[in-house]
Amino acid sequence: MGVSNYFSDCYEAARAKFREAARAAGATVETHANPSRGPEGEVRDWLALPTANGDADLTTDVIWIGPRDAERLLLTVSGTHGAEGFCGSGIQVGWLESGLYRELPRGTAMLMVHALNPHGFAWLRRVNEGNVDLNRNFIDHTGSYPVNEGYETLRDAICPAEWTAESLAAARERLDAYGQTHGAMALQSAISTGQYSDPQGVFYGGTAPTWSNRTLDSVLRRHAGHARHVAYIDLHTGLGPRGYGEIISNHPAGSGGHARVVEWYGDEATNGDDGTSSSAAVMGDTTVGVERALPAATVAGITLEYGTVPLDEVLTAVRADNWVHLHGDLAAPLGRELKTRMRRAFYADADDWKAMVWERAVDVHRRALRGLTEL
Ligand SMILES: [Zn+2]
Repeated sequence: MGVSNYFSDCYEAARAKFREAARAAGATVETHANPSRGPEGEVRDWLALPTANGDADLTTDVIWIGPRDAERLLLTVSGTHGAEGFCGSGIQVGWLESGLYRELPRGTAMLMVHALNPHGFAWLRRVNEGNVDLNRNFIDHTGSYPVNEGYETLRDAICPAEWTAESLAAARERLDAYGQTHGAMALQSAISTGQYSDPQGVFYGGTAPTWSNRTLDSVLRRHAGHARHVAYIDLHTGLGPRGYGEIISNHPAGSGGHARVVEWYGDEATNGDDGTSSSAAVMGDTTVGVERALPAATVAGITLEYGTVPLDEVLTAVRADNWVHLHGDLAAPLGRELKTRMRRAFYADADDWKAMVWERAVDVHRRALRGLTEL
């Protein structure tokens, strides 16, 4: 199977490919059914999803490769941000199809979580079934939430009630003015750092652990509670230069976790906290959940973030997706157009892009395995 064929055109095809590759590699697939539903009827047809197959049509699939009692673990997750799963699924399928899974060093195992947010993957959304950004949901929900003042200021411009040339021009003016006054990263941060005040808005972190959050937690506790050292790679798309995979440390700058990431991946490891990353600092990401579920382990968690289209197009696609699900009609021409843009923002369906993604993924996985081995 060539590299391009590791990747799939839709969630269901990706799931089928992953399951098949997992079985061929001798792994048992553990399936977790998401309680929400995938698209149906006309919308399903034009999203190019194959025929519906009943109630449990959205699942997170999990496999374990290597010794059950391994103390060193490589953990990869795809589809934390639903629609970004095209890329992450391709990497996981490739790792199995290519036979690279046989490279696992002695005493090391691998845990793959496929489509952590299957709803978003199937519906071409970053968010889950409750409009929650899973990568902002692993925050401590018992305390008070951080306030994103930029988001509060720009809320109506970030998520306009109408999606017309006039409303977009007015919103653009406000966003640009904010960017000019406070800087481009402050604007990006206002939109994407995360917010806990607007359940219908973008980059919303929720009020409780979501289904995907709880699923990841239980999978980790059951399978990996004995692990002492964990290399975690969360597979994402949408930021940075096209086809380039940025290694973003998921640990606070100055922490032991960040130092481990730098030791393993070198100076090219970036951090949203100190302005070295194409990403704004985020709150409540999945690595927080990994560390919480595996208190006995040291964790080196990264986001492997692949560029697709320019940042402005990505953020506009996310805002448009929010609008179309809240106010628009998915089956109408505008709805279709906006969903097409959404897909393009998170998946560059081109052979050269897939080749770059794959080559980088192999290198980063190998560095992670080396880091685990040298401990
Ligand atoms: Zn992402």
